[in-house]
Amino acid sequence: MIYDIDNIFAKILRGEIPCTKVFENDHALAFEDINPMTPVHVLVIPKGEYISMVDFSLAASDIEIVDFNRAIGEVAKIKGLIQTGYRTLANHGIHARQDVFHYHVHVVGGRDLGGMINKER
Ligand code: AMP
Repeated sequence: MIYDIDNIFAKILRGEIPCTKVFENDHALAFEDINPMTPVHVLVIPKGEYISMVDFSLAASDIEIVDFNRAIGEVAKIKGLIQTGYRTLANHGIHARQDVFHYHVHVVGGRDLGGMINKER
């Protein structure tokens, strides 16, 4: 798959559509999910053009990976999730039903999140 420069998160990074920013550093941006599943639902994205975790973890530079991971930690802190706990989640491809093909980690919390995976199917 080739990175689509017109995906919605690329447009957010270019400032073409708005987002509610939570945190930003040189290589990552965190913003509120537009359709939150939980009381806290933030998306963390790298600023570079990466489709998914595989792409990012194999191709990104060390500083991009460091800044991205630090951004996730900052979001947990800013959102007050450290004491109560939270979950990070990244969807990759068809089985995970990835909708937006710019790598992103969901940071969800603010309530008991239940079991990790739906076992029913
Ligand atoms: P995924 O299924 O992991 O690709 O998740 C994509 C996420 O992006 C969903 O949780 C959407 O609610 C979220 N999303 C889509 N468009 C926007 C947007 N314009 N601003 C913020 N979040 C968005």
